Amino acid sequence: DAYLAAIDSSNDAFNAYIKVTPELARSQAAASDEKLAKGEGGILEGIPLGIKDLYATKGVHTQACSHILDGFEPRYESTVTQNLLDDGAVTLGKLNMDEFAMGSSNETSYYGPVVNPWRGADGTKLVPGGSSGGSAAAVSAHLCAGATASDTGGSIRQPAAFTGTVGIKPTYGRCSRWGMVAFASSLDQAGPISRDVRDAAIMLSSMASPDPKDTTCVDIPVPDYEAFIGKGVKGMKIGIPKEYRLDGMPAEIEELWQKGIAILKDAGAEIVDISLPHTKYALPAYYIVAPAEASSNLARYDGVKYGLRVDGKTIDEMYENTRAAGFGEEVKRRIMIGTYVLSAGYYDAYYLRAQKVRTLIKRDFETVFAQGVDTILTPATPSAAFAIGDKEMAADPVKMYLNDVFTVTVNMAGLPGIAVPAGLSADGLPLGLQLIGRPFEEGTLFQAGHVIE
Ligand code: GLN
Repeated sequence: DAYLAAIDSSNDAFNAYIKVTPELARSQAAASDEKLAKGEGGILEGIPLGIKDLYATKGVHTQACSHILDGFEPRYESTVTQNLLDDGAVTLGKLNMDEFAMGSSNETSYYGPVVNPWRGADGTKLVPGGSSGGSAAAVSAHLCAGATASDTGGSIRQPAAFTGTVGIKPTYGRCSRWGMVAFASSLDQAGPISRDVRDAAIMLSSMASPDPKDTTCVDIPVPDYEAFIGKGVKGMKIGIPKEYRLDGMPAEIEELWQKGIAILKDAGAEIVDISLPHTKYALPAYYIVAPAEASSNLARYDGVKYGLRVDGKTIDEMYENTRAAGFGEEVKRRIMIGTYVLSAGYYDAYYLRAQKVRTLIKRDFETVFAQGVDTILTPATPSAAFAIGDKEMAADPVKMYLNDVFTVTVNMAGLPGIAVPAGLSADGLPLGLQLIGRPFEEGTLFQAGHVIE
């Protein structure tokens, strides 16, 4: 009731939820109360969560914040949200996001921008980051105890950093993608955004599971991630990659990084300088691979199977009218880039090359981990949250894409990465640090992340 009241009174200010489900929440909560009264219940019994609109929720409108999915009500529940429900979670509603998770500011949503609960020095309204901007804003503003999110190139970690919350993108294959609206299938991963590292550990323990319905989901047991909290970092080898020190990076980001290094060192970690030589190719390669996969995944929205249909005189005209009206500008840009790089004349020059670069990026990490490095510390974002409607970003999509410069390598290599709040900018805005781990060693990230937060 307290969370529903908070949503009632302040969701209009943040636009974090696009749909609230009070009746569902109350009936789930009543069932949880009964279980708890009998001393039963799961690890999330009665905990109210917000669900990113990317997750299929049975009988509850699921639109990935795109006009083209208007009115779509899935007849099934995604594996990740089913896992949360099975562990007792209560769902408050669906959270705003960039359309089809394409964006870094939550400004591409059909439902309009999300407002960051943190304000600029002069009261300016700021973006919460994206694409999981609704999830990050809702957690930050206490409109849910935790939220599901998803990360294809940084969409969990960048919004977490912009709102002073914690977000983890697990190893590719750790959570099932079944029932998650697909953006770029070889990069997409589910994960939580939460108020602290412990909550993220508890949520991920529930969200992760093997799943025969997703062939890329691995069949290895899910550890009790909460058990890693408090173990400390004594003897842990932490790598500092020189390629993440970018030209023109604001001094406050460098200072934050140094502060993180000092905290880990004081706590007994061994700090080592490392090199990830192909880092500079990650962003351009990502913006070939991700749109290529998106252009293929989004072919299914044709006005026949789901959501919106805009009629035409012929079936081809119906497809064209539906897609022209249903997709927003950023989604259309991705479809065009993706179709171009996959086309016969350009496939070898762009798509195949980007996939080769991807292998080199993965090998960079493998080399460093083979040298005994347990985790890698970097900034999470190159700046603090920026203003809604920022003119430079709006005028140049590449400027917007630069937000992902520290996060996309992790998706390209399939590794786990966590963003933890680590300090404030000169304007008093939250800044985050990122820890990158070995495949399926999310526990190490919770362990080290808890030392920094
Ligand atoms: N900002 C990146 C993009 O627009 C990443 C998005 C995401 O992780 N879903 O592609």
